Amino acid sequence: MQAMLPPGALPGDELRLQRIRRLEDEILACQRCPLAQTRTRAVPGEGNLNAVVMFVGEGPGFDEDRQGRPFVGRSGQFLTATLAQFGIERRAVYITNVVKCRPPQNRDPLPTELEACSGYLTRQIELINPRIIVTLGRFSMRRWFPEGAITQIHGRVRNIGRGRIALAMFHPAAALRNPTWQSAFVQDMAKLPALIERAERANAAAARGEALPAGAPHPGDADYVA
Ligand code: SF4
Repeated sequence: MQAMLPPGALPGDELRLQRIRRLEDEILACQRCPLAQTRTRAVPGEGNLNAVVMFVGEGPGFDEDRQGRPFVGRSGQFLTATLAQFGIERRAVYITNVVKCRPPQNRDPLPTELEACSGYLTRQIELINPRIIVTLGRFSMRRWFPEGAITQIHGRVRNIGRGRIALAMFHPAAALRNPTWQSAFVQDMAKLPALIERAERANAAAARGEALPAGAPHPGDADYVA
């Protein structure tokens, strides 16, 4: 499964879809780091081309490596169920990881692997252009919240520039291992509907050529906590 065009897609969306499909093909054939030697399939990501929200996890696990899709195992089911709990359809969002190939035995990705794969996520963000990036786990968190432990940072919302915010959350696999973190995961996800509503209002205003409504992040805004 790849990026999809939503119903009512705009004229420029077809070109953008072609560009993201080419990027996905590039990832599927990538040999830039040693994880290419041990993967079954690379997992570029999937979801709505016009998603307001992009979820960024750590890397594919056993099931994802076999199926070539992100977050399809137990932690993915938990993520999907928690989204549904707050009225968010999985098909409305885009889901990917900081490394696109499974580290052996689900070990942490190495700094060299993160570096080698980083450009793909940058290009996905440019193409999907989400207003909200939700980091799942400490490896994606560090890209936008480099300063602390996830136990302190989770739940924080940060302006990351270009009209985007990031929300830091535990990885769903970690949440499933720890009841306290599981509660925190649900509480942090509870912030998302209001953030989405504000982002959609900002997109609608931008489409009408109006100034962004109050509360929509602008480049240069100070950090804030929701
Ligand atoms: S993890 Fe990223 S950089 Fe490494 S082989 Fe896979 S797609 Fe390429």
